[in-house]
Amino acid sequence: MRIVDKFLSESDYTHPGGRKLAEKRAVILHWVGKGGQKALDVWEYFEHDCRAGKIYASAHYCIDLDGTVYRFIPDDDVAYHCGSSQIDPKSKKIYTDWARKVFGKYAEYPERTSPNNAALGIEMCALDDEGNFSPETLHAAAELTVHLCKTHQIPIERVGTHNLVVGWKDCPRLWTRKPELFEEFKRGLRL
Ligand SMILES: [Zn+2]
Repeated sequence: MRIVDKFLSESDYTHPGGRKLAEKRAVILHWVGKGGQKALDVWEYFEHDCRAGKIYASAHYCIDLDGTVYRFIPDDDVAYHCGSSQIDPKSKKIYTDWARKVFGKYAEYPERTSPNNAALGIEMCALDDEGNFSPETLHAAAELTVHLCKTHQIPIERVGTHNLVVGWKDCPRLWTRKPELFEEFKRGLRL
């Protein structure tokens, strides 16, 4: 696995560098939201568009179509990737049952805190708008997830998708629509 450091500048909307993760409880996987987008396009979006548009969004890592892993934010800092302020239709709360189990207090009081205080976020580039991943992206995602779990003592049960945290989010699209493929991905993780 090749990790390339490409840190986002510090900003309130993407990389609030002064804010450290309170804990590291989970690894949350995402897709970049559009087929064919490259990791550096995503970097540009966070670095320029989000700051200019005052949009809270970022992630610690982004895995390119060729499997290159870009580190946008150091593991110790907060990134904005799995917070919510809308009610989840299933749990009727802001966060899902899974999120409230994994994140505890970080998912109970969304007006005061959020799972972003205790989660590492990985964005994955996708080949198309169905959200299909290249074998290289999938392979690197597995390697990076295992590496983060080992480094921060996170059990595999706490590897989740954005959709598992925020129930109305179609992210990553492929795994939201075909959860069996996410289960397959998790079965392939070897700590
Ligand atoms: Zn997401």
